[in-house]
Amino acid sequence: MRCKICEADAVVHLPQHNLALCEKHFIARHRKVVLDTIRKFKMFTLDDRVAVAVSGGKDSLGLLHILKSENFDVFGVFIDLGLGEFQERVNQAVQRFSDEFHVDIVRYSLKEHHGVDLPEIAKRRRKQSPCSFCGTIKRYLMNKIALENGARVLATGHNLNDETAFLLANALRWDSEYLSRQSIVLQSTHPKLLKKVKPLAFLTEKETAAYAFLTGIDFVRESCPFSKGARLFALKRTMTQLEARSPGTKLRFYREFLSFKRDHLPEPGSVQLNGCEICGYPTTARVCAFCRITQSL
Ligand code: AMP
Ligand code: ZN
Ligand code: ZN
Repeated sequence: MRCKICEADAVVHLPQHNLALCEKHFIARHRKVVLDTIRKFKMFTLDDRVAVAVSGGKDSLGLLHILKSENFDVFGVFIDLGLGEFQERVNQAVQRFSDEFHVDIVRYSLKEHHGVDLPEIAKRRRKQSPCSFCGTIKRYLMNKIALENGARVLATGHNLNDETAFLLANALRWDSEYLSRQSIVLQSTHPKLLKKVKPLAFLTEKETAAYAFLTGIDFVRESCPFSKGARLFALKRTMTQLEARSPGTKLRFYREFLSFKRDHLPEPGSVQLNGCEICGYPTTARVCAFCRITQSL
């Protein structure tokens, strides 16, 4: 196949756009999609200090790479959950990226700061899926570490596959609360809660993987060993099957959702936020979910 722009050998084929591109034109288009998303949804500008939450995977490292190359005031935030050998590979990948591309990445270790790692918490909470409290811990720490390092906005590497799998899960239950909260931009509702944005939301996993590969980012390919069998994987597979039969399904599903939501779904209800009695960060309860997890041990 030939590049649609320059006729050179194409390296990536994007059936959902009926487009084949060479390396140079794929990279240029990929970055343009990210920059257009940032602009269109008023995520941030060159004047804002932006933190990218990095997991060591292709999405978040690729996003950090793009923002750094486009001269944004950007740094990475990385939560070390103490996940054994997997964690060591992740830590090495993040460190290599930071050295090679000259980007600051703040590492925060759960064990060093709170005395426990995720496997220890999981052992004591056998009845709960590790993904549920892991999510609580990550969300809390990403916000806190980004804020303490001067960020105004927190960007995550969620891609179109992630967003459409969440969307399918929420739609299957007609969960109006979750549907109205599923956003590409989540505004700050408290001085200690950063605005959250997803600049990769219109790009598939295939595209983010190709970008990381072509720009020489050495990322961790495996997913977290704790998340095996998670329900979201099944939903992702289903979406990918639908996409294979009808290219563009994911993009249409997500785009149509965003415009439906804008016109027909109420804004998420505002909740009363107080300072957590232990850490001072906003919560609807007396003690926040993060402190409840770490204090109960
Ligand atoms: P996941 O929930 O693992 O699918 O990750 C979704 C997004 O959360 C990633 O793209 C990252 O932006 C962020 N993230 C995941 N794990 C970490 C981590 N350990 N530290 C910081 N950010 C993370
Ligand atoms: Zn080309
Ligand atoms: Zn707290």
